[in-house]
Amino acid sequence: MAGAPESEQSICIGCGLCCDGTVVTHLAVRDESDLGAPLRGLGVEIIAAADPPVLELPCPAVQDGRCSIHHLHRPSACAQFECKLSRAVLDGAVSSSEAIAVISATLRTRDEVRSGALEVGVLQSMLDQNFRSS
Ligand code: SF4
Ligand code: SF4
Repeated sequence: MAGAPESEQSICIGCGLCCDGTVVTHLAVRDESDLGAPLRGLGVEIIAAADPPVLELPCPAVQDGRCSIHHLHRPSACAQFECKLSRAVLDGAVSSSEAIAVISATLRTRDEVRSGALEVGVLQSMLDQNFRSS
């Protein structure tokens, strides 16, 4: 999930599509201690009735595609999450520049859907093709 400025090699810089509810709608957490004080301080509550427990996205910590609490405690799933695109870059199947182009196009499409200029189905197809594992 959304990285920090010092990891300049990461394609996650400035993306945050998995934190803002675009790619996934919920994030699994083990328990309250896994959720952590920073997110609790931002008003995040665990949906304990879910199995496993989850927090609902968008996460209030994502700002301009970056995690504002990256240097503080984050749920363990935040560090472990990989979308299909980030996995493909790590595997060498997609270059970083190709991935950045895909991310830019997806962010544009997300914004056009938000503004009502595009149908959500266009965005969902892009997400299924590039970000979600089947
Ligand atoms: S590239 Fe994938 S894992 Fe990285 S922030 Fe974007 S959606 Fe999340
Ligand atoms: S805590 Fe940070 S990395 Fe985790 S979902 Fe929220 S913005 Fe993303």
